[in-house]
Amino acid sequence: MATKIRVTAIQRLCVNDGPGVRTVVFLKGCYLQCPWCCNPEAIHYDKDEYFDKGKCKYPEKNLICKNCELHEGQSSQDLCPFGAFEKTYKDYTDDEIYALLMRDENLYKDGGGVTFSGGEPLLQAKALLPLLIRLNNNGIHITFETTLYAPTEHYLLVKDYVDYWLVDLKFQFGFIVNHDYTIGTQFFENNLRDLQSLGKCVVYRMVVMEEMLNHSQSIIKCLREHNIDVIELLNYHGLAQSKYKELGIVFTNFNALNASRKALFVETLKMAGVKSVMLQL
Ligand code: SF4
Ligand code: SF4
Repeated sequence: MATKIRVTAIQRLCVNDGPGVRTVVFLKGCYLQCPWCCNPEAIHYDKDEYFDKGKCKYPEKNLICKNCELHEGQSSQDLCPFGAFEKTYKDYTDDEIYALLMRDENLYKDGGGVTFSGGEPLLQAKALLPLLIRLNNNGIHITFETTLYAPTEHYLLVKDYVDYWLVDLKFQFGFIVNHDYTIGTQFFENNLRDLQSLGKCVVYRMVVMEEMLNHSQSIIKCLREHNIDVIELLNYHGLAQSKYKELGIVFTNFNALNASRKALFVETLKMAGVKSVMLQL
Protein backbone atom coordinates (compact mmCIF):
# COMPACT_ATOMS: atom_id res chain seq x y z
CA MET A 1 0.00 0.00 0.00
CA ALA A 2 1.29 3.46 -0.87
CA THR A 3 2.55 5.55 2.00
CA LYS A 4 0.16 8.31 2.97
CA ILE A 5 1.12 11.93 2.66
CA ARG A 6 0.64 13.82 5.91
CA VAL A 7 -0.63 17.34 5.30
CA THR A 8 -1.57 20.19 7.65
CA ALA A 9 -3.27 22.33 4.99
CA ILE A 10 -3.80 22.81 1.29
CA GLN A 11 -4.14 26.47 0.33
CA ARG A 12 -5.29 27.65 -3.08
CA LEU A 13 -4.66 30.93 -4.91
CA CYS A 14 -1.34 31.71 -3.22
CA VAL A 15 0.95 34.30 -4.83
CA ASN A 16 4.06 34.37 -2.63
CA ASP A 17 5.22 30.79 -2.86
CA GLY A 18 6.82 30.56 -6.27
CA PRO A 19 5.94 31.90 -9.73
CA GLY A 20 2.33 32.74 -10.63
CA VAL A 21 -0.78 31.66 -8.78
CA ARG A 22 -0.17 28.45 -6.89
CA THR A 23 -1.74 25.82 -4.73
CA VAL A 24 0.41 25.19 -1.67
CA VAL A 25 0.54 21.85 0.12
CA PHE A 26 1.84 22.16 3.69
CA LEU A 27 3.52 18.94 4.78
CA LYS A 28 3.80 17.89 8.40
CA GLY A 29 7.17 17.27 10.03
CA CYS A 30 10.35 19.31 10.31
CA TYR A 31 13.87 18.75 11.62
CA LEU A 32 14.10 22.20 13.10
CA GLN A 33 12.09 23.95 15.73
CA CYS A 34 12.52 27.58 14.87
CA PRO A 35 10.95 29.57 17.71
CA TRP A 36 9.70 32.09 15.13
CA CYS A 37 7.93 29.36 13.11
CA CYS A 38 4.55 30.57 11.84
CA ASN A 39 3.39 27.00 11.19
CA PRO A 40 4.07 25.36 14.57
CA GLU A 41 1.40 22.73 13.84
CA ALA A 42 3.68 21.44 11.06
CA ILE A 43 6.77 20.81 13.20
CA HIS A 44 5.99 17.44 14.80
CA TYR A 45 5.10 14.64 12.40
CA ASP A 46 3.33 12.50 14.99
CA LYS A 47 1.63 14.82 17.36
CA ASP A 48 -0.13 18.06 18.13
CA GLU A 49 -3.76 18.85 18.12
CA TYR A 50 -5.61 22.10 18.49
CA PHE A 51 -7.62 22.51 21.66
CA ASP A 52 -10.68 24.73 21.53
CA LYS A 53 -11.33 25.71 25.12
CA GLY A 54 -14.78 27.03 24.26
CA LYS A 55 -15.95 23.55 23.22
CA CYS A 56 -14.76 21.79 26.38
CA LYS A 57 -17.85 21.18 28.50
CA TYR A 58 -16.19 19.64 31.53
CA PRO A 59 -12.97 21.36 32.51
CA GLU A 60 -13.44 19.79 35.96
CA LYS A 61 -12.96 16.03 36.26
CA ASN A 62 -16.24 14.09 36.03
CA LEU A 63 -17.58 10.72 34.98
CA ILE A 64 -17.90 11.46 31.26
CA CYS A 65 -14.47 12.99 30.89
CA LYS A 66 -12.40 11.06 33.38
CA ASN A 67 -10.17 9.64 30.63
CA CYS A 68 -9.55 12.92 28.88
CA GLU A 69 -5.93 13.94 28.59
CA LEU A 70 -6.90 17.23 30.25
CA HIS A 71 -7.51 15.19 33.39
CA GLU A 72 -4.34 13.17 32.93
CA GLY A 73 -6.20 10.40 31.11
CA GLN A 74 -5.17 8.70 27.89
CA SER A 75 -7.84 9.66 25.41
CA SER A 76 -7.79 12.81 23.37
CA GLN A 77 -9.16 14.26 20.15
CA ASP A 78 -11.13 11.34 18.77
CA LEU A 79 -12.86 10.66 22.06
CA CYS A 80 -13.92 14.10 23.14
CA PRO A 81 -17.69 13.94 22.62
CA PHE A 82 -17.80 17.69 22.03
CA GLY A 83 -15.05 17.97 19.43
CA ALA A 84 -12.82 20.16 21.60
CA PHE A 85 -9.69 18.62 20.11
CA GLU A 86 -8.97 18.93 16.43
CA LYS A 87 -6.23 17.11 14.57
CA THR A 88 -3.57 19.31 13.00
CA TYR A 89 -3.26 17.08 9.95
CA LYS A 90 -4.90 14.75 7.51
CA ASP A 91 -3.33 11.77 5.78
CA TYR A 92 -3.96 11.60 2.02
CA THR A 93 -3.20 9.12 -0.72
CA ASP A 94 -1.43 10.60 -3.72
CA ASP A 95 -4.65 10.07 -5.76
CA GLU A 96 -6.60 12.17 -3.27
CA ILE A 97 -4.10 15.04 -3.29
CA TYR A 98 -3.78 14.88 -7.07
CA ALA A 99 -7.56 15.30 -7.45
CA LEU A 100 -7.54 18.29 -5.08
CA LEU A 101 -4.63 19.91 -6.87
CA MET A 102 -6.15 19.48 -10.31
CA ARG A 103 -9.09 21.72 -9.36
CA ASP A 104 -6.73 24.60 -10.26
CA GLU A 105 -5.30 23.11 -13.43
CA ASN A 106 -6.19 26.21 -15.47
CA LEU A 107 -4.14 28.46 -13.19
CA TYR A 108 -1.14 26.19 -13.56
CA LYS A 109 -1.29 26.61 -17.33
CA ASP A 110 -1.06 30.39 -16.83
CA GLY A 111 2.37 30.29 -15.21
CA GLY A 112 1.39 29.03 -11.78
CA GLY A 113 1.81 25.61 -10.28
CA VAL A 114 2.00 23.58 -7.11
CA THR A 115 4.25 24.38 -4.16
CA PHE A 116 5.20 21.89 -1.47
CA SER A 117 5.92 23.65 1.80
CA GLY A 118 5.65 22.78 5.44
CA GLY A 119 7.13 21.84 7.77
CA GLU A 120 9.92 20.42 5.70
CA PRO A 121 8.58 18.80 2.50
CA LEU A 122 11.79 16.86 1.86
CA LEU A 123 11.15 14.75 4.95
CA GLN A 124 8.18 13.15 3.15
CA ALA A 125 10.06 12.72 -0.13
CA LYS A 126 9.35 8.99 -0.40
CA ALA A 127 5.62 9.42 0.08
CA LEU A 128 5.54 12.38 -2.31
CA LEU A 129 7.48 10.79 -5.15
CA PRO A 130 4.57 9.19 -7.10
CA LEU A 131 2.62 12.46 -6.89
CA LEU A 132 5.61 14.49 -8.10
CA ILE A 133 6.14 12.16 -11.04
CA ARG A 134 2.48 12.44 -11.99
CA LEU A 135 2.44 16.25 -11.77
CA ASN A 136 5.70 16.41 -13.70
CA ASN A 137 4.39 14.13 -16.45
CA ASN A 138 1.44 16.49 -16.81
CA GLY A 139 3.69 19.51 -17.22
CA ILE A 140 2.73 21.08 -13.88
CA HIS A 141 5.35 23.40 -12.45
CA ILE A 142 6.58 22.24 -9.04
CA THR A 143 8.19 24.41 -6.36
CA PHE A 144 9.70 23.16 -3.12
CA GLU A 145 9.84 25.58 -0.21
CA THR A 146 12.52 23.95 1.90
CA THR A 147 15.30 24.45 4.41
CA LEU A 148 17.30 21.60 2.78
CA TYR A 149 17.65 20.21 6.32
CA ALA A 150 16.71 16.68 5.32
CA PRO A 151 18.61 13.50 4.51
CA THR A 152 20.40 13.78 1.19
CA GLU A 153 18.81 10.54 -0.03
CA HIS A 154 15.42 12.29 0.25
CA TYR A 155 16.65 15.31 -1.67
CA LEU A 156 18.16 13.10 -4.40
CA LEU A 157 14.91 11.22 -4.75
CA VAL A 158 12.87 14.28 -5.73
CA LYS A 159 15.34 16.79 -7.17
CA ASP A 160 14.70 15.92 -10.83
CA TYR A 161 10.98 16.65 -10.51
CA VAL A 162 11.30 20.05 -8.82
CA ASP A 163 11.44 23.07 -11.16
CA TYR A 164 11.92 25.85 -8.66
CA TRP A 165 13.45 25.97 -5.21
CA LEU A 166 12.66 28.44 -2.45
CA VAL A 167 15.38 27.87 0.12
CA ASP A 168 14.58 29.15 3.59
CA LEU A 169 18.03 29.88 5.04
CA LYS A 170 18.70 29.24 8.70
CA PHE A 171 22.00 31.07 9.13
CA GLN A 172 20.51 33.14 11.95
CA PHE A 173 19.58 30.00 13.87
CA GLY A 174 22.97 29.22 15.38
CA PHE A 175 23.37 32.76 16.68
CA ILE A 176 20.08 33.24 18.44
CA VAL A 177 18.77 29.79 19.33
CA ASN A 178 20.24 27.33 21.76
CA HIS A 179 19.34 24.16 19.87
CA ASP A 180 21.55 21.44 18.46
CA TYR A 181 20.94 21.22 14.73
CA THR A 182 24.39 19.93 13.73
CA ILE A 183 23.20 16.80 11.94
CA GLY A 184 20.81 18.81 9.80
CA THR A 185 23.58 21.24 8.94
CA GLN A 186 25.61 18.52 7.25
CA PHE A 187 22.56 17.55 5.19
CA PHE A 188 22.04 21.21 4.30
CA GLU A 189 25.63 21.58 3.11
CA ASN A 190 25.46 18.46 0.92
CA ASN A 191 22.04 19.27 -0.52
CA LEU A 192 22.86 22.91 -1.24
CA ARG A 193 26.12 22.03 -3.00
CA ASP A 194 24.28 19.67 -5.31
CA LEU A 195 21.36 22.06 -5.85
CA GLN A 196 23.69 24.90 -6.87
CA SER A 197 25.27 22.65 -9.49
CA LEU A 198 21.93 21.85 -11.18
CA GLY A 199 21.37 25.21 -12.89
CA LYS A 200 17.73 25.33 -11.71
CA CYS A 201 16.04 28.42 -10.36
CA VAL A 202 16.90 28.82 -6.67
CA VAL A 203 15.57 31.72 -4.59
CA TYR A 204 17.01 32.24 -1.12
CA ARG A 205 14.92 33.63 1.70
CA MET A 206 15.58 34.40 5.34
CA VAL A 207 13.42 35.55 8.23
CA VAL A 208 14.98 38.56 9.91
CA MET A 209 14.42 40.07 13.34
CA GLU A 210 16.02 42.61 15.63
CA GLU A 211 17.78 39.91 17.65
CA MET A 212 19.97 38.87 14.71
CA LEU A 213 21.21 42.32 13.77
CA ASN A 214 24.17 42.06 16.18
CA HIS A 215 25.25 39.06 14.12
CA SER A 216 25.01 40.71 10.70
CA GLN A 217 28.68 40.19 9.86
CA SER A 218 28.57 36.50 10.81
CA ILE A 219 25.48 36.03 8.66
CA ILE A 220 27.14 37.80 5.74
CA LYS A 221 30.10 35.44 6.17
CA CYS A 222 27.70 32.46 5.94
CA LEU A 223 26.11 33.90 2.78
CA ARG A 224 29.53 34.38 1.19
CA GLU A 225 30.72 30.92 2.12
CA HIS A 226 27.67 29.52 0.36
CA ASN A 227 27.98 31.73 -2.75
CA ILE A 228 24.69 33.51 -2.08
CA ASP A 229 24.61 37.10 -3.29
CA VAL A 230 20.87 37.69 -3.78
CA ILE A 231 18.38 37.10 -1.00
CA GLU A 232 14.76 37.85 -0.09
CA LEU A 233 14.15 38.98 3.48
CA LEU A 234 10.99 38.34 5.45
CA ASN A 235 10.48 40.49 8.51
CA TYR A 236 9.52 38.50 11.61
CA HIS A 237 5.92 38.67 12.77
CA GLY A 238 4.30 37.05 15.74
CA LEU A 239 0.97 36.40 14.03
CA ALA A 240 1.01 32.70 14.87
CA GLN A 241 0.81 33.37 18.61
CA SER A 242 -2.77 32.11 18.89
CA LYS A 243 -1.82 28.83 17.18
CA TYR A 244 0.88 28.25 19.80
CA LYS A 245 -1.72 28.83 22.49
CA GLU A 246 -4.18 26.33 21.02
CA LEU A 247 -1.41 23.77 20.57
CA GLY A 248 -0.15 24.27 24.11
CA ILE A 249 3.35 25.22 22.87
CA VAL A 250 5.39 27.97 24.48
CA PHE A 251 5.49 31.06 22.25
CA THR A 252 8.72 33.07 22.03
CA ASN A 253 8.31 36.65 20.98
CA PHE A 254 10.99 38.27 18.85
CA ASN A 255 11.17 41.87 17.72
CA ALA A 256 10.41 42.76 14.14
CA LEU A 257 12.75 45.24 12.46
CA ASN A 258 11.36 48.74 12.28
CA ALA A 259 11.78 50.74 9.08
CA SER A 260 15.18 52.22 9.95
CA ARG A 261 16.60 48.90 11.17
CA LYS A 262 15.35 47.18 8.02
CA ALA A 263 17.07 49.82 5.91
CA LEU A 264 20.26 49.41 7.97
CA PHE A 265 20.31 45.65 7.46
CA VAL A 266 19.64 45.95 3.73
CA GLU A 267 22.43 48.54 3.46
CA THR A 268 24.85 46.35 5.48
CA LEU A 269 24.19 43.48 3.09
CA LYS A 270 24.61 45.77 0.09
CA MET A 271 27.99 47.02 1.34
CA ALA A 272 29.06 43.38 1.52
CA GLY A 273 27.93 42.76 -2.05
CA VAL A 274 24.67 40.98 -1.20
CA LYS A 275 21.58 42.27 -2.99
CA SER A 276 18.47 41.95 -0.86
CA VAL A 277 14.82 42.80 -1.04
CA MET A 278 12.43 42.97 1.89
CA LEU A 279 9.25 41.06 1.04
CA GLN A 280 5.88 42.21 2.31
CA LEU A 281 3.98 39.00 2.93
S1 SF4 B 1 -13.39 15.07 26.82
FE1 SF4 B 1 -13.82 17.06 25.82
S2 SF4 B 1 -15.33 18.03 27.14
FE2 SF4 B 1 -14.40 16.40 28.33
S3 SF4 B 1 -12.76 17.40 29.48
FE3 SF4 B 1 -11.89 16.55 27.59
S4 SF4 B 1 -11.97 18.24 26.13
FE4 SF4 B 1 -13.36 18.76 27.81
S1 SF4 C 1 12.14 25.17 9.34
FE1 SF4 C 1 10.23 26.21 8.81
S2 SF4 C 1 8.63 24.74 9.35
FE2 SF4 C 1 10.50 24.06 10.35
S3 SF4 C 1 10.37 24.93 12.38
FE3 SF4 C 1 11.55 26.33 11.12
S4 SF4 C 1 10.09 27.82 10.33
FE4 SF4 C 1 8.93 26.06 11.10
